[in-house]
Amino acid sequence: MVDVIIIGAGTAGLSAAIYTVRAGKSALVLEASSYGGQIINTPDIENYPGIAHISGFDFATGLYNQAKDLGADIRFERVTGIITEGNVKKVITSQNEYECKAVILATGAKNRPLGLPNEQELVGKGVSYCATCDGMFYRNKVVAVNGGGNTALEDAQFLSNYCEKVYVIHRRDKFRADQKEVERLKAKDNVEFVLDSTITKLNEDASGLVSLEVTNKNTGDTRTIEVSGLFVAIGQAPDNTAFENVASLDEKGYIKAGEDLKTGTEGIFTAGDCRTKTVRQLTTAASDGAVAALAACGYIDAM
Ligand code: NAP
Repeated sequence: MVDVIIIGAGTAGLSAAIYTVRAGKSALVLEASSYGGQIINTPDIENYPGIAHISGFDFATGLYNQAKDLGADIRFERVTGIITEGNVKKVITSQNEYECKAVILATGAKNRPLGLPNEQELVGKGVSYCATCDGMFYRNKVVAVNGGGNTALEDAQFLSNYCEKVYVIHRRDKFRADQKEVERLKAKDNVEFVLDSTITKLNEDASGLVSLEVTNKNTGDTRTIEVSGLFVAIGQAPDNTAFENVASLDEKGYIKAGEDLKTGTEGIFTAGDCRTKTVRQLTTAASDGAVAALAACGYIDAM
Protein backbone atom coordinates (compact mmCIF):
# COMPACT_ATOMS: atom_id res chain seq x y z
CA MET A 1 0.00 0.00 0.00
CA VAL A 2 1.47 3.30 -1.14
CA ASP A 3 0.76 6.37 0.99
CA VAL A 4 0.14 8.88 -1.80
CA ILE A 5 -0.35 8.30 -5.51
CA ILE A 6 0.22 11.40 -7.61
CA ILE A 7 -1.26 11.39 -11.09
CA GLY A 8 0.85 13.53 -13.41
CA ALA A 9 4.57 14.35 -13.47
CA GLY A 10 4.41 18.02 -14.38
CA THR A 11 5.49 20.83 -12.06
CA ALA A 12 2.55 20.35 -9.67
CA GLY A 13 2.87 16.55 -9.52
CA LEU A 14 6.64 16.48 -9.04
CA SER A 15 6.48 19.25 -6.43
CA ALA A 16 3.83 17.19 -4.62
CA ALA A 17 6.15 14.16 -4.77
CA ILE A 18 9.02 16.15 -3.23
CA TYR A 19 6.83 17.38 -0.36
CA THR A 20 5.28 13.94 0.21
CA VAL A 21 8.58 12.06 0.54
CA ARG A 22 10.11 14.82 2.64
CA ALA A 23 7.11 14.44 4.99
CA GLY A 24 8.12 10.81 5.47
CA LYS A 25 5.42 9.23 3.29
CA SER A 26 5.83 7.03 0.23
CA ALA A 27 4.95 8.61 -3.12
CA LEU A 28 4.19 6.91 -6.43
CA VAL A 29 3.95 9.25 -9.41
CA LEU A 30 2.09 7.90 -12.45
CA GLU A 31 2.58 9.73 -15.75
CA ALA A 32 0.98 8.84 -19.08
CA SER A 33 3.63 10.29 -21.40
CA SER A 34 6.79 12.11 -20.35
CA TYR A 35 7.77 14.08 -17.25
CA GLY A 36 7.75 17.86 -17.10
CA GLY A 37 4.29 18.78 -18.35
CA GLN A 38 3.81 21.92 -20.43
CA ILE A 39 6.87 23.78 -19.17
CA ILE A 40 9.27 21.33 -20.82
CA ASN A 41 8.65 23.07 -24.17
CA THR A 42 9.30 26.61 -22.93
CA PRO A 43 12.61 27.91 -24.32
CA ASP A 44 13.41 30.31 -21.51
CA ILE A 45 11.79 30.74 -18.09
CA GLU A 46 12.52 34.09 -16.53
CA ASN A 47 9.76 34.50 -13.96
CA TYR A 48 10.48 31.74 -11.47
CA PRO A 49 11.58 33.44 -8.26
CA GLY A 50 15.28 32.95 -7.55
CA ILE A 51 16.15 31.64 -11.03
CA ALA A 52 16.93 34.42 -13.52
CA HIS A 53 16.95 32.18 -16.62
CA ILE A 54 16.48 28.48 -17.20
CA SER A 55 15.14 26.43 -20.11
CA GLY A 56 11.91 24.52 -19.53
CA PHE A 57 13.74 21.28 -20.24
CA ASP A 58 16.43 21.94 -17.62
CA PHE A 59 13.83 23.05 -15.09
CA ALA A 60 11.66 19.94 -15.62
CA THR A 61 14.65 17.58 -15.61
CA GLY A 62 15.95 19.13 -12.40
CA LEU A 63 12.55 18.68 -10.79
CA TYR A 64 12.28 15.07 -11.97
CA ASN A 65 15.76 14.19 -10.67
CA GLN A 66 15.10 15.97 -7.38
CA ALA A 67 11.87 13.99 -6.78
CA LYS A 68 13.54 10.70 -7.75
CA ASP A 69 16.67 11.32 -5.66
CA LEU A 70 14.50 12.09 -2.63
CA GLY A 71 12.82 8.69 -3.03
CA ALA A 72 9.69 9.16 -5.15
CA ASP A 73 8.79 6.19 -7.35
CA ILE A 74 7.98 7.56 -10.82
CA ARG A 75 6.38 5.22 -13.38
CA PHE A 76 5.15 5.85 -16.90
CA GLU A 77 1.67 4.34 -16.99
CA ARG A 78 -1.62 5.92 -18.07
CA VAL A 79 -4.19 6.05 -15.28
CA THR A 80 -7.62 5.02 -16.54
CA GLY A 81 -9.65 5.38 -13.35
CA ILE A 82 -9.91 5.44 -9.56
CA ILE A 83 -12.13 3.31 -7.35
CA THR A 84 -12.64 4.24 -3.69
CA GLU A 85 -13.28 1.41 -1.22
CA GLY A 86 -13.62 2.93 2.23
CA ASN A 87 -10.28 4.49 3.11
CA VAL A 88 -8.50 2.64 0.31
CA LYS A 89 -8.15 4.12 -3.15
CA LYS A 90 -7.52 1.79 -6.08
CA VAL A 91 -5.75 3.49 -8.95
CA ILE A 92 -6.09 1.59 -12.20
CA THR A 93 -3.57 2.06 -14.99
CA SER A 94 -3.17 0.55 -18.44
CA GLN A 95 -0.79 -2.04 -16.91
CA ASN A 96 -1.45 -2.30 -13.17
CA GLU A 97 -3.68 -1.64 -10.22
CA TYR A 98 -2.27 0.15 -7.16
CA GLU A 99 -3.72 0.73 -3.70
CA CYS A 100 -3.06 3.88 -1.72
CA LYS A 101 -4.34 6.01 1.14
CA ALA A 102 -4.52 9.34 -0.70
CA VAL A 103 -4.46 10.54 -4.29
CA ILE A 104 -3.35 13.85 -5.80
CA LEU A 105 -4.74 14.60 -9.24
CA ALA A 106 -2.16 16.74 -11.04
CA THR A 107 -3.13 15.96 -14.63
CA GLY A 108 -2.36 19.41 -16.05
CA ALA A 109 -3.92 20.48 -19.32
CA LYS A 110 -3.38 19.77 -23.00
CA ASN A 111 -3.02 22.08 -25.99
CA ARG A 112 -6.34 23.34 -27.28
CA PRO A 113 -6.90 22.81 -31.02
CA LEU A 114 -8.48 25.42 -33.29
CA GLY A 115 -11.14 22.93 -34.28
CA LEU A 116 -10.79 23.48 -38.04
CA PRO A 117 -11.79 20.52 -40.25
CA ASN A 118 -8.36 19.49 -41.63
CA GLU A 119 -6.29 20.64 -38.61
CA GLN A 120 -5.48 17.20 -37.21
CA GLU A 121 -4.53 15.78 -40.66
CA LEU A 122 -2.07 18.68 -41.05
CA VAL A 123 -0.24 18.01 -37.78
CA GLY A 124 3.34 17.29 -38.85
CA LYS A 125 2.57 18.75 -42.30
CA GLY A 126 2.56 22.42 -41.30
CA VAL A 127 0.49 22.51 -38.13
CA SER A 128 2.23 22.27 -34.77
CA TYR A 129 1.43 22.93 -31.12
CA CYS A 130 5.05 23.19 -30.03
CA ALA A 131 7.44 25.80 -31.44
CA THR A 132 10.47 24.54 -29.53
CA CYS A 133 9.88 20.98 -30.76
CA ASP A 134 9.15 21.72 -34.42
CA GLY A 135 10.39 25.28 -35.05
CA MET A 136 13.72 24.19 -36.54
CA PHE A 137 11.89 22.59 -39.49
CA TYR A 138 10.85 26.09 -40.54
CA ARG A 139 14.25 27.79 -40.67
CA ASN A 140 14.15 30.67 -43.24
CA LYS A 141 10.46 30.04 -43.89
CA VAL A 142 7.34 32.10 -43.26
CA VAL A 143 5.25 30.93 -40.33
CA ALA A 144 2.32 32.10 -38.21
CA VAL A 145 1.60 31.81 -34.51
CA ASN A 146 -1.99 31.93 -33.34
CA GLY A 147 -2.81 33.20 -29.84
CA GLY A 148 -2.28 36.17 -27.55
CA GLY A 149 -0.99 34.57 -24.36
CA ASN A 150 2.54 34.10 -23.06
CA THR A 151 2.95 30.83 -24.95
CA ALA A 152 2.08 32.40 -28.32
CA LEU A 153 4.31 35.42 -27.83
CA GLU A 154 7.25 33.40 -26.53
CA ASP A 155 6.81 31.03 -29.48
CA ALA A 156 6.80 33.99 -31.87
CA GLN A 157 9.94 35.40 -30.26
CA PHE A 158 11.70 32.06 -30.56
CA LEU A 159 10.63 31.54 -34.20
CA SER A 160 11.54 35.11 -35.21
CA ASN A 161 15.18 34.30 -34.48
CA TYR A 162 15.48 32.03 -37.50
CA CYS A 163 12.29 32.16 -39.59
CA GLU A 164 12.08 34.61 -42.48
CA LYS A 165 8.83 36.09 -41.17
CA VAL A 166 6.44 35.43 -38.30
CA TYR A 167 2.78 36.50 -38.32
CA VAL A 168 1.15 36.73 -34.89
CA ILE A 169 -2.56 36.21 -35.38
CA HIS A 170 -4.73 37.04 -32.39
CA ARG A 171 -8.49 37.31 -32.05
CA ARG A 172 -8.37 40.58 -30.04
CA ASP A 173 -6.20 43.72 -30.05
CA LYS A 174 -5.17 43.22 -26.39
CA PHE A 175 -2.82 40.52 -25.21
CA ARG A 176 -2.92 38.25 -22.20
CA ALA A 177 0.84 37.89 -22.45
CA ASP A 178 3.17 39.95 -20.25
CA GLN A 179 3.58 43.47 -21.68
CA LYS A 180 7.34 42.94 -21.79
CA GLU A 181 6.88 40.07 -24.27
CA VAL A 182 4.59 42.22 -26.45
CA GLU A 183 7.07 45.11 -26.57
CA ARG A 184 10.00 42.82 -27.29
CA LEU A 185 8.15 41.32 -30.24
CA LYS A 186 6.97 44.67 -31.59
CA ALA A 187 10.61 45.69 -31.92
CA LYS A 188 11.32 42.84 -34.36
CA ASP A 189 11.42 43.68 -38.09
CA ASN A 190 10.31 40.25 -39.22
CA VAL A 191 7.17 40.04 -37.04
CA GLU A 192 3.76 41.22 -38.22
CA PHE A 193 0.74 41.38 -35.91
CA VAL A 194 -2.63 40.44 -37.39
CA LEU A 195 -5.09 41.50 -34.72
CA ASP A 196 -8.85 41.16 -34.17
CA SER A 197 -8.59 38.20 -36.50
CA THR A 198 -9.25 34.50 -36.46
CA ILE A 199 -8.08 31.71 -38.72
CA THR A 200 -11.10 30.46 -40.60
CA LYS A 201 -9.52 28.00 -43.05
CA LEU A 202 -6.31 26.02 -43.49
CA ASN A 203 -5.42 25.72 -47.18
CA GLU A 204 -3.30 22.75 -48.19
CA ASP A 205 -1.75 21.08 -51.20
CA ALA A 206 -0.29 17.58 -51.48
CA SER A 207 2.76 18.57 -49.40
CA GLY A 208 0.77 20.08 -46.53
CA LEU A 209 -0.22 23.54 -45.28
CA VAL A 210 0.29 26.36 -47.80
CA SER A 211 -1.78 29.27 -46.51
CA LEU A 212 -4.29 30.49 -43.96
CA GLU A 213 -7.59 32.20 -44.52
CA VAL A 214 -7.82 34.88 -41.84
CA THR A 215 -10.99 36.84 -41.08
CA ASN A 216 -11.09 40.22 -39.35
CA LYS A 217 -13.88 40.13 -36.79
CA ASN A 218 -14.61 43.89 -37.05
CA THR A 219 -14.80 44.25 -40.82
CA GLY A 220 -15.61 40.69 -41.85
CA ASP A 221 -12.82 40.95 -44.47
CA THR A 222 -10.79 37.85 -45.18
CA ARG A 223 -7.20 37.71 -46.34
CA THR A 224 -4.98 34.83 -47.35
CA ILE A 225 -1.59 34.56 -45.66
CA GLU A 226 0.92 32.23 -47.24
CA VAL A 227 2.82 30.25 -44.63
CA SER A 228 4.73 26.99 -44.40
CA GLY A 229 3.93 26.51 -40.74
CA LEU A 230 1.25 27.38 -38.22
CA PHE A 231 1.95 27.20 -34.49
CA VAL A 232 -1.28 26.99 -32.56
CA ALA A 233 -0.91 28.45 -29.06
CA ILE A 234 -4.47 29.22 -28.00
CA GLY A 235 -4.27 27.85 -24.49
CA GLN A 236 -4.97 24.55 -22.89
CA ALA A 237 -7.90 22.37 -22.00
CA PRO A 238 -8.01 19.82 -19.17
CA ASP A 239 -8.61 16.09 -19.55
CA ASN A 240 -10.19 14.85 -16.33
CA THR A 241 -13.09 12.78 -17.62
CA ALA A 242 -11.56 9.57 -16.19
CA PHE A 243 -11.91 11.04 -12.68
CA GLU A 244 -15.48 12.34 -12.81
CA ASN A 245 -16.60 9.64 -10.34
CA VAL A 246 -14.28 11.01 -7.62
CA ALA A 247 -13.94 14.72 -8.42
CA SER A 248 -16.54 17.18 -9.65
CA LEU A 249 -15.59 19.16 -12.72
CA ASP A 250 -16.57 22.69 -13.69
CA GLU A 251 -18.23 23.51 -17.03
CA LYS A 252 -14.81 23.59 -18.75
CA GLY A 253 -13.70 20.24 -17.31
CA TYR A 254 -11.37 21.58 -14.61
CA ILE A 255 -11.47 19.89 -11.18
CA LYS A 256 -13.42 21.98 -8.70
CA ALA A 257 -11.35 22.71 -5.59
CA GLY A 258 -10.69 25.64 -3.33
CA GLU A 259 -7.32 26.75 -1.99
CA ASP A 260 -7.28 23.71 0.38
CA LEU A 261 -7.08 21.60 -2.83
CA LYS A 262 -9.66 19.08 -1.57
CA THR A 263 -11.93 17.50 -4.17
CA GLY A 264 -15.40 16.30 -3.25
CA THR A 265 -13.99 12.88 -2.21
CA GLU A 266 -12.18 12.34 1.12
CA GLY A 267 -8.49 11.64 0.56
CA ILE A 268 -8.47 12.85 -3.04
CA PHE A 269 -6.72 16.15 -3.65
CA THR A 270 -5.79 18.11 -6.75
CA ALA A 271 -2.95 20.41 -7.79
CA GLY A 272 -1.85 22.58 -10.70
CA ASP A 273 -3.39 23.55 -14.02
CA CYS A 274 -6.01 20.75 -13.95
CA ARG A 275 -8.02 22.54 -11.27
CA THR A 276 -10.29 25.57 -11.31
CA LYS A 277 -8.08 28.60 -10.62
CA THR A 278 -7.34 32.04 -11.99
CA VAL A 279 -3.52 32.07 -12.20
CA ARG A 280 -1.86 29.16 -13.99
CA GLN A 281 1.87 29.72 -13.63
CA LEU A 282 4.92 27.64 -12.78
CA THR A 283 5.00 29.19 -9.31
CA THR A 284 1.33 28.43 -8.63
CA ALA A 285 1.75 24.85 -9.90
CA ALA A 286 4.70 24.30 -7.54
CA SER A 287 2.76 25.94 -4.73
CA ASP A 288 -0.28 23.71 -5.35
CA GLY A 289 1.97 20.65 -5.29
CA ALA A 290 3.29 21.56 -1.83
CA VAL A 291 -0.17 22.40 -0.43
CA ALA A 292 -1.79 19.22 -1.82
CA ALA A 293 1.04 16.99 -0.57
CA LEU A 294 0.91 18.40 2.96
CA ALA A 295 -2.90 18.13 2.95
CA ALA A 296 -2.66 14.48 1.81
CA CYS A 297 -0.03 13.68 4.48
CA GLY A 298 -2.21 15.36 7.13
CA TYR A 299 -5.20 13.34 5.97
CA ILE A 300 -3.20 10.08 6.28
CA ASP A 301 -1.94 11.00 9.76
CA ALA A 302 -5.52 11.62 10.90
CA MET A 303 -6.82 8.29 9.52
P1 NAP B 1 -3.59 31.61 -22.35
O1 NAP B 1 -2.88 32.57 -21.48
O2 NAP B 1 -4.87 31.00 -21.91
O3 NAP B 1 -3.81 32.34 -23.75
C1 NAP B 1 -4.51 31.73 -24.76
C2 NAP B 1 -4.65 32.72 -25.89
O4 NAP B 1 -5.32 32.07 -26.97
C3 NAP B 1 -5.48 33.94 -25.52
O5 NAP B 1 -4.90 35.08 -26.07
C4 NAP B 1 -6.84 33.66 -26.14
O6 NAP B 1 -7.47 34.81 -26.61
C5 NAP B 1 -6.46 32.81 -27.34
N1 NAP B 1 -7.54 31.86 -27.67
C6 NAP B 1 -8.18 31.00 -26.87
N2 NAP B 1 -9.07 30.26 -27.55
C7 NAP B 1 -8.98 30.68 -28.82
C8 NAP B 1 -9.64 30.29 -30.01
N3 NAP B 1 -10.56 29.33 -30.04
N4 NAP B 1 -9.30 30.92 -31.15
C9 NAP B 1 -8.35 31.89 -31.15
N5 NAP B 1 -7.68 32.31 -30.06
C10 NAP B 1 -8.01 31.70 -28.91
O7 NAP B 1 -2.67 30.34 -22.75
P2 NAP B 1 -1.07 30.20 -22.79
O8 NAP B 1 -0.46 31.33 -23.52
O9 NAP B 1 -0.79 28.84 -23.28
O10 NAP B 1 -0.65 30.29 -21.27
C11 NAP B 1 -1.25 29.41 -20.30
C12 NAP B 1 -0.74 29.82 -18.92
O11 NAP B 1 0.65 29.52 -18.83
C13 NAP B 1 -0.88 31.32 -18.68
O12 NAP B 1 -1.17 31.53 -17.32
C14 NAP B 1 0.46 31.85 -19.02
O13 NAP B 1 0.78 33.07 -18.38
C15 NAP B 1 1.36 30.72 -18.56
N6 NAP B 1 2.64 30.75 -19.29
C16 NAP B 1 3.66 31.38 -18.69
C17 NAP B 1 4.89 31.43 -19.33
C18 NAP B 1 5.98 32.14 -18.64
O14 NAP B 1 5.69 32.76 -17.64
N7 NAP B 1 7.22 32.08 -19.13
C19 NAP B 1 5.07 30.86 -20.59
C20 NAP B 1 3.98 30.25 -21.19
C21 NAP B 1 2.75 30.20 -20.53
P3 NAP B 1 -8.15 35.86 -25.60
O15 NAP B 1 -7.03 36.60 -24.97
O16 NAP B 1 -9.01 36.67 -26.48
O17 NAP B 1 -8.95 35.02 -24.63
